[in-house]
Amino acid sequence: QIRVRFAPSPTGNLHVGGARTALFNYLYAKSVGGKFILRIEDTDLERSTKESEEAVIRDLQWLGLDWDEGPDKDGEYGPYRQSERTHVYKEYADKLLSSGHVYQCFCSDEELEAMREEAKAKNLPPRYTGKWGSASQAEIDAELEKGTPYTYRFRVPQEGSVTIHDLIRGEVTWKKDTLGDFVVLRSNGQPVYNFCVAVDDATMKISHVIRAEEHLPNTLRQALIYNALGFSMPQFGHVSLILAPDRSKLSKRHGATSVGQFREMGYLASAMVNYLALLGWNDGSEDEIFTVDQIIEKFSIDRVTKSGAIFDQTKLGWLNGQHLRLLPTEEVATMFKDQWIKAGLLTESIPDSFVNVAVELVKNGTEVVAESEKYLLSILDYPLNETLASSAVKEVVDDNIAEVANAILEAYDNGELQAAIDGGHDTWSKWIKGMGKGFKRKGKRLFMPVRVLLTGAMQGPEVGAVLGLLKDGESSGAVTEKAG
Ligand code: GLU
Repeated sequence: QIRVRFAPSPTGNLHVGGARTALFNYLYAKSVGGKFILRIEDTDLERSTKESEEAVIRDLQWLGLDWDEGPDKDGEYGPYRQSERTHVYKEYADKLLSSGHVYQCFCSDEELEAMREEAKAKNLPPRYTGKWGSASQAEIDAELEKGTPYTYRFRVPQEGSVTIHDLIRGEVTWKKDTLGDFVVLRSNGQPVYNFCVAVDDATMKISHVIRAEEHLPNTLRQALIYNALGFSMPQFGHVSLILAPDRSKLSKRHGATSVGQFREMGYLASAMVNYLALLGWNDGSEDEIFTVDQIIEKFSIDRVTKSGAIFDQTKLGWLNGQHLRLLPTEEVATMFKDQWIKAGLLTESIPDSFVNVAVELVKNGTEVVAESEKYLLSILDYPLNETLASSAVKEVVDDNIAEVANAILEAYDNGELQAAIDGGHDTWSKWIKGMGKGFKRKGKRLFMPVRVLLTGAMQGPEVGAVLGLLKDGESSGAVTEKAG
């Protein structure tokens, strides 16, 4: 059976990189009918927090990446939190001790420090050169007798190499002698990270380890532990890094990087999942807009790319807009309405008729619901700003629009504009065409300047509809001061 896992260390928020790893595991499990396991890697007791674990779980749930087994969902191979598995690590460490793959190392911190210094002086990587790998049982017993603290140290065979066939990177080989003997259990009984990962993946019967490229160097140690314990190795797939648009490592200075931040900004989980899937995967066509079910259907590890993926928030925004338009109208209307009320643009008493028209007007130009405020405001405000208008419009119309701007301003001052608006669509239409005639303008040359003058934007919904909205909003009294 195919079993994959996502194994976050709860030391912070769920970042887009981690979320993508979780997603690829989830997609793989779902696409082949396997199991997706959540394992909390909280061996680093100082840096792990309960809050972080809860935040990671909340964000995974928000994304809809449900797991089959995990800390809150019992399965056959639990517990699923490393801090609760100390006995398992001890048991396997003792097995390795009996089989001779591990030895007890009684070196003091000072002795180890001296080895590091010596290696450094010779320009060599630090490596254990102490005597305990070849000590006699009598020597060991003597230290045990004295109660000297000891670690469990893994004996790295110095001949040969380890090769994995990485599902994404192809063949990767390490020479064993690049590694010195390493600790698997500290003198206080705390297991070391790589040991826990190998023991857990083996005992939880993980068949495929799909994780970030940065863990590739750990694979050699884990593979040696696997072999020593007599477990067959899982298949590995190391997914490339996520880069910022400037191809540097994605970090906070590039803006939002955690899933929680995007959720709070009003991004849709479906768009987030779609976008994360595209970070290193495509279905072989030019298609980019997918629901999660469509991705599951199309997903295959073979199509995960080896090169780094660029995290581009502009594209995420665009995709979010696409997903917004896939939602049922009522659902979108509620989201917009809640947002506008929250932002103080509208009051609770806003009639549905207003909301429905407003949503129709702003929906197509909106990427993220929270941003629709600006758009609605630009409609609800009268940005009769001639300068802004004329410079923007000049790009589209061939002559100066001062004459239209002046006429609109004059009509605004003397109430004619309001009367035309209040009269409804036909009255407005007649009025505007009449005005256009005076300037020998019609079509785009008339409506574009009018649109920009009245809405402050060169694109958008039909101007007549916008004006109707203004009228309704004002007469209903549900548009707040802030918006008016
Ligand atoms: N706990 C590791 C992390 O959060 C993942 C380890 C693994 O996937 O093997 O980066």
